[in-house]
Amino acid sequence: MSKGNRISQLRDTGIKVRVDNKHHKPIEDPGPGKHFWILTGLWRVANPTSNNFMLDAENLVTVDGPGCYKCEGLYTDELAAQSCKGSMFPL
Ligand SMILES: [Zn+2]
Repeated sequence: MSKGNRISQLRDTGIKVRVDNKHHKPIEDPGPGKHFWILTGLWRVANPTSNNFMLDAENLVTVDGPGCYKCEGLYTDELAAQSCKGSMFPL
């Protein structure tokens, strides 16, 4: 079994994104059997009462993935070639 790709470099766009605490883009299923590839990131927050959170390299704790949101498998060429057996909304 091969391991998923290791993340060796991330790039930022320098773009500021205005969001609120309830900001969520709708998650649309790419279709039955198709994977939904994602990265997950975790940033340390110094001041939780701030209204201006910085997602910078300095406070980045971890980035994991890419992996499939539906089947929760780490990306491999082998997994990508297979039909996704996961679900967007597990029971
Ligand atoms: Zn999948």
